[in-house]
Amino acid sequence: MTDCIFCKIAAGEIPAAKLYDDGEVVVFRDINPEAPIHLLIIPRRHIPTLNDLTEADATLIGRLYLAGQRVAAELGVAERGYRTVINCNRDAGQIVFHVHMHLLAGRELSWPPG
Ligand code: AMP
Repeated sequence: MTDCIFCKIAAGEIPAAKLYDDGEVVVFRDINPEAPIHLLIIPRRHIPTLNDLTEADATLIGRLYLAGQRVAAELGVAERGYRTVINCNRDAGQIVFHVHMHLLAGRELSWPPG
């Protein structure tokens, strides 16, 4: 999608601090971190929201989690812990309409989230 910021990051058209890219899934640092480690894990393919997933995307969504697991281990936070969140639409605060999983770590995270 031509006007999607995360598509442009995945394509390397705008810069981001990328940590992982396997062709299908890209991981980069959030530009406005809410924790010492705040990553965004995205499918390269443009999917606007969780509501747009189909059965055919089941493996792809699993790959988002596996990429998060891998990068969390590489960054040394796997044992202490981390949180993954996917916001869907307005009430959840989604502002970028390309499915992305937040991975937050490096501090104690309160629960429930706001
Ligand atoms: P959400 O509210 O779930 O849609 O989260 C969107 C996230 O994307 C926010 O945490 C933003 O800080 C982050 N973000 C927006 N633009 C960029 C960018 N160019 N590079 C990295 N992160 C970004």
